[in-house]
Amino acid sequence: MSKCCRECNTIKPLSDFNKDCTRSDGHQRICRPCTKLYYQTWRNSITGEKYEHIRLNSQKWRADNKLRLTKIEQQWRADNKEHVKELNKQWLNQNGTLYRRSHKAIINARNNERRARKLNATPKWFNAEKKKIQALYEKAQRLTFETGRLHHVDHIDPLCSDQICGLHCLNNLQILPAIENMKKGNSFKGEI
Ligand SMILES: [Zn+2]
Repeated sequence: MSKCCRECNTIKPLSDFNKDCTRSDGHQRICRPCTKLYYQTWRNSITGEKYEHIRLNSQKWRADNKLRLTKIEQQWRADNKEHVKELNKQWLNQNGTLYRRSHKAIINARNNERRARKLNATPKWFNAEKKKIQALYEKAQRLTFETGRLHHVDHIDPLCSDQICGLHCLNNLQILPAIENMKKGNSFKGEI
């Protein structure tokens, strides 16, 4: 399905038009880029006191209608799944590396939690320790940054080795320089 945008006179797929339940085809008359341009021009044309008045009013309205807005946004996301996917992809392409770098500790903690869950190595009290464990991964990242030497969060008893399956919990975690962690591998040196 496609339709012609009333603003730029271009025939575009229906997915390029915002939803509008008051229209017979359920979509606005002008396409997304034209809508965006329209609002940008409108916004730029307002200055000074008038701008401040609108800004404060809209801020108040948002605060008063938080729940309603969340519902509208959820509905919009559900109605525009493909568009949201595309927007996320674009954002990740532009900010992905930066995002991954600044969230490395969080990603590491999450990956290790997932790995531990797969191995049934998360104890019952894991959720109570979750924040402290996250902080440990952040500390390892900070040490890496401060010393210039890569640091890992290591499982003292490995999650999976021939002799023992350690737990993913605070008592079994330590920060090690990566080189020592790699030397250690999955070996278990204690006595069972
Ligand atoms: Zn258009």
